[in-house]
Amino acid sequence: MANETGLIVQQSLDALLQDTDFLTHLKGLDREQAFRSLGAILSTPNHIHKSYLRIVMDSGNVVRVPAFRIQHNDTLGPYKGGIRFHETVNEDEVTNLATLMTLKNALHEVPFGGAKGGIIINPRDYSVRELYMICKKYVQYFSDVLGPDKDIPAPDMGSGEREMDWMMAEFKNIHPGEPYRGSFTGKSVVNGGSLGRREATGKGVYFTLRYTLYDFMKHQSQWLAGEKTQVNPFLQTVIGHTDRPLKLAVQGFGNVGSVAALEAYQCKLLQNKVVAVSDRNHTLYNEDGLDIPALVDYTANHGGDLPLSKDQLDAAGIKAELLDREAVLTLDVDVLILAALEDQIHADNAHAVKARIIVEGANAPVTGDADRILGEQGVVIIPDILANAGGVIVSYFEWLQGRETQFYTEDEVFKQLVDKMQHTMESLLPAYFGGVHSLRTHCYNHAVMKLSATLYRLGKLY
Ligand code: GLU
Repeated sequence: MANETGLIVQQSLDALLQDTDFLTHLKGLDREQAFRSLGAILSTPNHIHKSYLRIVMDSGNVVRVPAFRIQHNDTLGPYKGGIRFHETVNEDEVTNLATLMTLKNALHEVPFGGAKGGIIINPRDYSVRELYMICKKYVQYFSDVLGPDKDIPAPDMGSGEREMDWMMAEFKNIHPGEPYRGSFTGKSVVNGGSLGRREATGKGVYFTLRYTLYDFMKHQSQWLAGEKTQVNPFLQTVIGHTDRPLKLAVQGFGNVGSVAALEAYQCKLLQNKVVAVSDRNHTLYNEDGLDIPALVDYTANHGGDLPLSKDQLDAAGIKAELLDREAVLTLDVDVLILAALEDQIHADNAHAVKARIIVEGANAPVTGDADRILGEQGVVIIPDILANAGGVIVSYFEWLQGRETQFYTEDEVFKQLVDKMQHTMESLLPAYFGGVHSLRTHCYNHAVMKLSATLYRLGKLY
């Protein structure tokens, strides 16, 4: 993944420099200088921490595991972001993801900055004891820069509540007598995790789609009748998908994709049919709609994998065709939810995508080139920093609950999650549909505006 986020941040700053309604009292050379400072601050991370964790393997061999914590920006609060366990993770990717966290938190008014961690391993290649040692060592090596008011990690690809529990326990060992519950989020509920944290990202992903196609369309009819809105190609796409049956495909059936697919399947407000889901092995397709609850049950009992063969499908009573892994991206559907890896839609396959609405459950699944190609065709892309923020929003609730040692019910968590995401959507969609930019550009502008105004008022630009 190239550092495309930095590029879009710079474009947002260039646009804001010309916007005389923004920071109005900053004029002339002062204004130019301030915007150059903003570019310098937001395009680079504050800190890159890197270590080689020394791990004794079960075989007795000692290996060194490369690990990072990259802290991009803490203007709006302590650094926050997941730790990715993946064999291809690298410094550029983690920096890009840390930048996305800064923007995601700014966009949704979550009082955190942005950070990301990376551990270069394929967790499937390690025993439970080895993974436990890696988690402990990660906290030991980075313990000085982590903490409830400094930097709060969470799960990301390849990590989950088990790893967060282990890491919090090690943090508590190293810092006896200090508050520790807020040091990691995404923990198990018995260890101070929040109810609803596991489902939060997938639920939020689906909510952004439902809000765009249903709530917004129903509640903004007066605004929609306005003349200028008729010319916006993105609005035309949405209007073309309102009040009619929808076919959906979901790439990725992990924590995010499976929950988003289930939400779509159960939703009574849209006429959804989830016709395809995929995982690392292949795509399952059924033009009449897949039995998503049965697939969720199946994966829960089969190490997270979807059925691998016709025999396994038959044995589980699930009707579907098996297609190759990439097929999910170019099927004839209305909505494509991308909940797997980054860089999935790129210049070479963007033209083959038939979905007119794409929701980014993963971080950066559409490259900059593909984004331009699809945008020119009027494809609506609900971008990562808007769509997949449910995880960090409920992480924030978990952090608050840990501080207060008062815990919310699952219903309270989901209600607050929806309220927060709805608030963001309400503040963005009218200007998006009335304007000329993609929703991604619009979200970046919004987040960069918030960060810029705060940095200016903190006196950081001269
Ligand atoms: N890793 C998730 C993300 O990319 C969650 C981060 C968090 O909860 O801090 O948004």
